[in-house]
Amino acid sequence: MGKMRRMSNTTITLIIILTLIFILLAILGYVINESENTPPNLSGTTDFTAPELPATEQEEITTSTEAINSTEASEPEITLPPETTGPVVTEPIVTDKVEETEISTPIVEEPNYIGTIYLTFDDGPSSEITSQILDILKQKNVKATFFILDYEFGSEIEALVCREINEGHTVGIHGISHDYSKIYTSLENLVKNFTNLQEKIYKSTGYRATIIRFPGGSSNTVSEKYCPKIMTQAVEYFSNNTDFVYFDWNVDSDDAGKAKSIDTVYENVTTALRPNRGNVVLMHDSSSKKFTLGALEAIIDYGMEHGYEFKAITPDTPQVAHRVSN
Ligand code: ZN
Repeated sequence: MGKMRRMSNTTITLIIILTLIFILLAILGYVINESENTPPNLSGTTDFTAPELPATEQEEITTSTEAINSTEASEPEITLPPETTGPVVTEPIVTDKVEETEISTPIVEEPNYIGTIYLTFDDGPSSEITSQILDILKQKNVKATFFILDYEFGSEIEALVCREINEGHTVGIHGISHDYSKIYTSLENLVKNFTNLQEKIYKSTGYRATIIRFPGGSSNTVSEKYCPKIMTQAVEYFSNNTDFVYFDWNVDSDDAGKAKSIDTVYENVTTALRPNRGNVVLMHDSSSKKFTLGALEAIIDYGMEHGYEFKAITPDTPQVAHRVSN
């Protein structure tokens, strides 16, 4: 019995020792395993916390870090001006629009003009010149502006005014009278000289003329003889109190002055044209102005060949006005 007890004691001790060794080995194995699984970059302190954290929490941390990173990354895009971010976002839309414009471009297609020419004809209409000027303008498909004088109801001249309107030109008002000694005696007389003809044109044609030109231009000094400072008053009046817009000119054909040939009229106009502006050309269609009529076609050809666009003056046309001298 004693021998048996000793044997069993030895066996128990052995079992305990083996169990302890097994437990030790198991612990060692676990620790080795953990250290292999732990990313080498993590610091020693996270060795203990890392296994304790569930995988989901770690994901949340990384996700939130990514979220922060992505927010940081997208923040500059948000704070960027719309002009900068816009093209990036709308790139495909822009391309679509470009394609659409490309389709419609051939229909709208216009040359790139270097400037505009506003041909203006004063002191008409006249039965000798005006209809031929209108023929040339029609043939060249050019619109112009006529600053007309008084005419009789039912006359051939009235028919020419109607033709000017019907063919798309602007009928402007020069006045009932061109006589400086009558129109420049007072502001009241000057205003009436425009409004009376405006009423007549309206009765005659139904057309409401609002573009005006002072006889002699706003820079005329001859008016001083009849009423000092009348042009200063007139410019202030017509600039502020009415729907009239007055236009002078910045290209003078001099057909009412020294020009004594077709070539001179042509040279005077073509050498004074400038790009990047509205060139308001002073010419006349009164009965004696044959040089203007003779030069007109060549002037239009010159303008077209050199990239100018021809237009009639409208209330939206940038005003061309002289420096007032009285
Ligand atoms: Zn005139």
